[in-house]
Amino acid sequence: MNLNDNYEMTIDGKGVTAPSMIDVVNPANGDVFSQAPDCTKEQLDAAVESSRKAFKTWRKVPIEERAALLKKAGDALLAQASDMARLFTREQGRPVEAAEQEIMGAGQWLHAVAQMRPPVHVSEDSDAQHIETRYVPLGVICAIAPWNFPVNLAVWKIAPALLAGNTMVLKPSPFTPLCTLKMGELFRDIFPPGVLNIISGGDSLGPLMTAHEGFDKISFTGSTATGKSVMESASKDLKRLTLELGGNDAAIVLPDVDVNEVAQKIFFGAFFNTAQICVATKRLYVHEDVYDQLRDSLAAIAKGVKVGDGTEQGTVLGPIQNKRQYDRVMNLLDDAKANDLQLIEGADIPEGGGYFVPVTIVDNPPEDSRVVQEEAFGPILPMLKFDDIDDVIERANDTDYGLAGAVWSKDTDKAVEIAHQLETGTVWINQNLNLRPDTTFGGHKQSGFGSENGMEGLLEFMAPQSVYVAKA
Ligand code: NAD
Repeated sequence: MNLNDNYEMTIDGKGVTAPSMIDVVNPANGDVFSQAPDCTKEQLDAAVESSRKAFKTWRKVPIEERAALLKKAGDALLAQASDMARLFTREQGRPVEAAEQEIMGAGQWLHAVAQMRPPVHVSEDSDAQHIETRYVPLGVICAIAPWNFPVNLAVWKIAPALLAGNTMVLKPSPFTPLCTLKMGELFRDIFPPGVLNIISGGDSLGPLMTAHEGFDKISFTGSTATGKSVMESASKDLKRLTLELGGNDAAIVLPDVDVNEVAQKIFFGAFFNTAQICVATKRLYVHEDVYDQLRDSLAAIAKGVKVGDGTEQGTVLGPIQNKRQYDRVMNLLDDAKANDLQLIEGADIPEGGGYFVPVTIVDNPPEDSRVVQEEAFGPILPMLKFDDIDDVIERANDTDYGLAGAVWSKDTDKAVEIAHQLETGTVWINQNLNLRPDTTFGGHKQSGFGSENGMEGLLEFMAPQSVYVAKA
């Protein structure tokens, strides 16, 4: 694949540009460095139409053959990971090595999902009758992805949807369209025309898609606020829906931890990708016996972590991905300052037009402060003291979100007991950010609706069909 500066959509198996373009900004300096097509309504119609047509044949392709093409798509992504990583860094901001890991991970994800098969449940097989429930594809999927893990989160949708026999029109975030468009180019000759259309555009394209009558299901990853609009839009014609939304994840650190052992892991569980992770630790509850020691360790790590342009050697954390998010994070920081919260700042940030925010630990703020109550989605981590387990579980659960959580303790039985009381879709014990293609992922409460990944994620792209066969 030619990683030139020519970004086209993929519609009906062909590279397509648009009458107007959207700017793509490098968040490390704030400069427009490229452009992506701004899909028109007519082009969206054409993409949906081509997916509808392709569905008629793709659904009949044996699953083994569909899986083989997904495997090929995984190979293609793995082969391009190193070249694509630099483009990823320019549009997303994450340091090159970690960018490459995301693209490699997406390739491996395609391989892993290609091995999955939907079940067939037999409820009776007697002389009188055979009854079984099988799973059939839904049709054309409207897939919408965010900017924090643009390649990975697109592949979380593409792989199971196509394996199941659906076709798809996928839209990346306007902030990070380029790697996804290149992925479309890469897959153009692998999948038959119309099976995977990839389009890009500005803020108006998402609502146009979710309102489009040609889709059978919406698979959406993004903020809870947008998720609510998507759900409203889907209600008009009862489109199937999966929503992967925001989180305000709590981690609970018990007094028996070895702080030296856990500090690095806790730090990167909160700040990796400059804290722009739906399942990052966003509220850190620490037992009072180890609070000061852990706070000082995290502060020391923060001082030593280089924040800067992801293309520079030694950079560990990049900028905030876009100006809109940068302004939100700065607003939270200003609020914390205005309320005299104790802030511990990490290493210096680069000067200039980049969207950099210093790693900031907020030392035991009140529970009702905005930095605790809101999803920061940026490098501001409130650390909160506790002395009573029941009380801290209540505080951890006292939120509309329910995505993930973590418990840190040498006593894993005790930690599991706490995990079972957390109202979240995922809980990690003495680890974090570990997500797998074979394990269900989804949010409780306002963090989501339905699941991705694992067998449940695959079946979200299928409908059960029970077949009753009378014998003799
Ligand atoms: P966002 O909701 O602003 O945008 C997500 C996508 O939706 C983008 O492609 C955007 O163009 C599109 N969009 C915007 N308005 C729309 C509308 N009215 N109708 C249809 N589509 C619309 O989210 P974001 O800022 O890109 O991503 C950050 C958020 O995503 C955070 O809240 C984060 O926690 C969440 N997130 C969740 C998961 C998860 O799996 N649960 C994963 C990553 C990010």
